[in-house]
Amino acid sequence: MRVGQGWDIHRLVAGRPLRLGGIEVPFERGLLGHSDGDVVLHALTDALLGALAAGDIGQHFPDTDARYRGADSAVLLGEIAKMAAQRGYRIGNVDVTILAERPKLAAHMAAMRERMAAVLGIDEGQVGIKAKTMEGLGTIGAGDAIAALAVVVIEPSRRRR
Ligand code: MG
Repeated sequence: MRVGQGWDIHRLVAGRPLRLGGIEVPFERGLLGHSDGDVVLHALTDALLGALAAGDIGQHFPDTDARYRGADSAVLLGEIAKMAAQRGYRIGNVDVTILAERPKLAAHMAAMRERMAAVLGIDEGQVGIKAKTMEGLGTIGAGDAIAALAVVVIEPSRRRR
């Protein structure tokens, strides 16, 4: 079994939809980024790459590459999940913590979990997701950014390719 961890932070700005965990969350601001800015899926992608010892998201999908401008982060995560399968691994479980002062995310957790499980091709029972505020502290606490932490466990699949 192998473990990987990932982390990401993006600035919250006006005039962008808020994409988080592969879904759109209604809010007056969104995450700035070359792609759709989905910190949750970026942290998850880096965690999966870490478990594979296969570099990081910036190496695989450079933000200097126009192909990834406005990219759906779910597609990028799906590509890395496919790479894991091709290398003979399946996902044991993933666990994500979102750090956000606003908006309140409780009502959206089920949809995020369902979407992440679908993108990774695993059951919802293999996807943990939690949201915390920063108690008003720092940049995230001031509502200027959202961050996410992710851990992934992978294990050899029975059918090694
Ligand atoms: Mg990112």
